[in-house]
Amino acid sequence: MTETAVDTRPVNLILLGPPGAGKGTQARMLEESFGLVQLSTGDLLRGAVAAGTEAGLAAKAVMEKGELVSDEIVLAVLKERLAQPDVAAGTILDGFPRTAGQAAALDALLAERGEQIDAVISLKVQDEAMVERVSGRFTCAGCGEGYHDSFKQPARPGVCDKCGGTEMKRRADDNAETVRTRLQAYHADTAPLIDYYAARGTLTEVDAMAEIGRVRAEMEAIVGKLTAA
Ligand code: AMP
Repeated sequence: MTETAVDTRPVNLILLGPPGAGKGTQARMLEESFGLVQLSTGDLLRGAVAAGTEAGLAAKAVMEKGELVSDEIVLAVLKERLAQPDVAAGTILDGFPRTAGQAAALDALLAERGEQIDAVISLKVQDEAMVERVSGRFTCAGCGEGYHDSFKQPARPGVCDKCGGTEMKRRADDNAETVRTRLQAYHADTAPLIDYYAARGTLTEVDAMAEIGRVRAEMEAIVGKLTAA
C-alpha cells in the first residue's frame, strides 16, 4: 500500500519502545507508506560520532555503555535536523523523546513551529526476547535494510536483498551486555512517558511481539487515520 500525506499540516508521530521493539524497522515502513520522515536520534548521534563533531565526541562513550546521552546534546542534534526542509510533511520520531525533560522540550519545539504530537505508538514487547533480537541484528551499509542472524538472513549470504550492496554493519552497542543496560535505561527514564502521553489521549499500544507484517498493518491503520484527517 502506498499513500501520501494529503493533510497540509505536518503529522508528527512518536514511536516508544525498548531497544529491539522494532521502532526503526516500523519507522522505515511508515516512511515508505506515508512520505513522513524518520527522525532517529540514535542515527543522528551515530552520525555525529562518525563525523567527530563536538556532540559526537561527548556522546560516544555514553552510547558505548548503553546509557542515555544528555538532553542538551540530544536536543541540539534534533533541532539541527528539524531545521532541514524535508521534514515538512511530518516526522516519525524514533528513539526520542526518552526522558520527561525531552518530552517537555519537544512540546515547546513543536509549539514554536505551530505543530504538535498527533499520535504516540507504544510498541509492547517482552524484555527477554529483546536481547536476542538486538544482539543478532545487522544492516546493509548502503541502504539500511535490516537483517538478523537467526530471523532474517539475506537470500544470498552477504548480499543485500534490497540494493545488492555487500557491506553489512553491526552497531557497537548491539551486544548482550549493553542491551541490558539500555533496557534498564528504557524502564527507568522512558517507560514513564507512556503514562504521560496516555493522560493526554494520544497513546495507542501495539503488540510488537506479533509478526512484522501484522505490526505494520496495525501501525498503518493508526497513521492512516491521521494523514486522512
Ligand atoms: P538507538 O539507536 O535509539 O537505540 O540509540 C542508541 C543510543 O544513542 C542510546 O543507547 C543512547 O545512548 C543514545 N540515544 C539515542 N537517542 C537518545 C535520546 N533521545 N536521549 C538520550 N540518549 C539517546
